[in-house]
Amino acid sequence: MIDKVLIANRGEIALRILRACRALGIGTVAVHSTADRDLKHVRLADESVCIGAASSAESYLNIPAIISAAELTDAVAIHPGYGFLSENADFAERVEQSGFRFIGPRPETIRLMGDKVSAIESMKAAGVPCVPGSDGELGDDDAENLRLAHDIGFPVIIKAAAGGGGRGMRVVHSEGGLLHAIAMTRTEASNAFGSSTVYMEKYLDNPRHVEIQVMADESGHAVHLGERDCSMQRRHQKVIEESPAPGISDEERAAIGERCARACERLGYRGAGTFEFLYQDGEFYFIEMNTRIQVEHPVTEMVTGRDLVAEQILIAGGAPLSFAQSDIEFRGHAIECRINAEDPVRFVPSPGQITVYHAPGGPGVRVDSHVYSGYHVPPHYDSMIGKVITWGADRPSAIARMRTALSELVIEGITDNTALHEDLLTDRGFEEGGTNIHYLEHKLGLS
Ligand code: ADP
Repeated sequence: MIDKVLIANRGEIALRILRACRALGIGTVAVHSTADRDLKHVRLADESVCIGAASSAESYLNIPAIISAAELTDAVAIHPGYGFLSENADFAERVEQSGFRFIGPRPETIRLMGDKVSAIESMKAAGVPCVPGSDGELGDDDAENLRLAHDIGFPVIIKAAAGGGGRGMRVVHSEGGLLHAIAMTRTEASNAFGSSTVYMEKYLDNPRHVEIQVMADESGHAVHLGERDCSMQRRHQKVIEESPAPGISDEERAAIGERCARACERLGYRGAGTFEFLYQDGEFYFIEMNTRIQVEHPVTEMVTGRDLVAEQILIAGGAPLSFAQSDIEFRGHAIECRINAEDPVRFVPSPGQITVYHAPGGPGVRVDSHVYSGYHVPPHYDSMIGKVITWGADRPSAIARMRTALSELVIEGITDNTALHEDLLTDRGFEEGGTNIHYLEHKLGLS
């Protein structure tokens, strides 16, 4: 039984985890950097420990400091949130070796999914559809690699097995650029991720990003909680997410969701996870699995009525899943807008003090944010300062509620991207739904 959780993160997700713990009657320990003493969840937590200097490397990525804080406070489990150490298998292993519960999958699962080549291999074996590609890592035989690209058909994309955050990939349109692109991606991957392993995939020209949420317990039961469409992206960063994905039928959802749940059972998956797919011409193509809670989890919570973070904690404590697949019903439509402290046109971060803050409210409106009037947004971390989520009986009413919510949102003292969202919410393509992953960049004139 988990009676105290250390929250190894910051910002809105740390507050979200704290709220889940409170609702379950579980004690909380906040850890924070010297720049984050005034974070809302630090103030609300039962206990707090300063774990290091402002730079993430010295605080939120500082494994010994986090383990020491757990020892000092007698925490039972550690929730890593998203980002930072959440997909670091070595961290998960250290947590468990030190006698704490890691609120997430087993370290070996994180490691397997962290290498995209091994992740794709295990997905193929589990019957999850993948992008046509090299069937494993690329070797050094130039002739063989050229032949492979011809078989797959140009354009192809060369990707680093250890890549992440949209980095470590290169699109190749014709034979002439292939060998150079492989060499460049290898060098970059080796410098950025410490591994020069690369692989090749067919480059899909018109895909949407549709992902499946799963949840599995220790004893191997797994369910899916439907999909999210996260195609509205800039530089591979999601801007707006929604559930359900426009135009995906109940049959398609059930079929792909079922495959993901069965893959989890095969993998011995534990906790919350997301299968990311590209979706084009009615087909799903697996690209990677995220072994953690995601930023956009609230849209799934809104349409299913389930608390995913509470479920993660209960599962880490050894409880069986609190719902069966047949208990999960999808109701209405939910949309999330990520609010960033950044210029809505030039996208430059805008840290500083928020002088006035008013959150929107009303039926079907949820705001997940750690900011308050007087809060100082530090320059050291991600620029996301919160998320506005709205629910409606259907997509148009969720959009209408989002427009109203954003018109009520007041953030003064810093610049934020609300204007970009307001623009998108009246965009013809967005209103129709089902736009592809390039839509926003085209609209912004970036590609
Ligand atoms: P990361 O781990 O860096 O996020 P992903 O494998 O998830 O890398 O890919 C990130 C993004 O790159 C995708 O959302 C998509 O926009 C693009 N991408 C990746 N693979 C392909 C592909 N085969 N065809 C077209 N676009 C792709």
